[in-house]
Amino acid sequence: MVSDTVEICEVGPRDGLQSVKDFVPTAVKTAWISAEAAAGVREIEVCSFVPERVVPQFADAAAVVALARTIPGLTVAALVPNLRGARDAVAAGVHKLTFTLSVSRSHSLANVRRTPDEQLAEFVRIVAFLASLEPERRPQLSAGLSTVFGCVYEGAVDEREVCRLAAALAEAGADDVSLADTTGHADPAQIRRVVTAVRAGIGERLTALHLHDTRGLGLANALAGLEAGIRSFDAALGGLGGCPFAPGALGNIVTEDLVYMLESMGLRTGIDIGRLLDARRALEAALPGERFVGHIHRAGLPKGFRGAPPATA
Ligand code: ZN
Repeated sequence: MVSDTVEICEVGPRDGLQSVKDFVPTAVKTAWISAEAAAGVREIEVCSFVPERVVPQFADAAAVVALARTIPGLTVAALVPNLRGARDAVAAGVHKLTFTLSVSRSHSLANVRRTPDEQLAEFVRIVAFLASLEPERRPQLSAGLSTVFGCVYEGAVDEREVCRLAAALAEAGADDVSLADTTGHADPAQIRRVVTAVRAGIGERLTALHLHDTRGLGLANALAGLEAGIRSFDAALGGLGGCPFAPGALGNIVTEDLVYMLESMGLRTGIDIGRLLDARRALEAALPGERFVGHIHRAGLPKGFRGAPPATA
């Protein structure tokens, strides 16, 4: 039986903030992370370990990780594009590394100045580095394939290439693999098709989807992923987000709207939507110049809404 529990990873502090030009104070980032953890979010991608000159927003990455690590029960994840980032993330004490590999050659060259296969070789170096650590210092290693469903530079992306790279990452030692619609090109039928094709190769090692709502299909795509057996989704509070190397790519699917959809369907997220909406209000007040989107914050919860019933033992 497919699980009726769905994991949500909040990626706003990383994906949302990477395109925010003004430096957001560390205290605002950590208050955001704490508020979401208090609402029941159990995994948060808190930053990206990239050189400060490339993304000044993450200059305080190590400090953010250190503060996030003090929150009991929270899995602290960080994005790393290379071995250097992985070393810094491990030194900071992250629980989970998300390595990113773009299927589109043009996006990969723009984003990390390496071809997909060169980036795969970098992943192998990270696996070797992690293997050299004491087991208790070794974080979980996730491999995130990006531009899986389309690319702003290349248009359509070859699904055979998606399957090949997913299999190569799993083979190389990824604990799990996720698929990202970096630029909001996916449609629900494509999600179903690609998830099924990748699962035929690597099975349950494909765990998660990372979706953007650029063209309004975000929640429809999440539903297609659910129906194809995916039980883990990235999302951003208020839909904050984008990609500096993917012009026009708007925010992630909206965390609070996704939680609302899932809980309405009787799926358990462990997240209290009311407290999540409080976290959104606080963040909007702290980032007055940013664009927040979504529906449920405006409409409110339907009268008598209770969400999914708690799990029975
Ligand atoms: Zn993204």
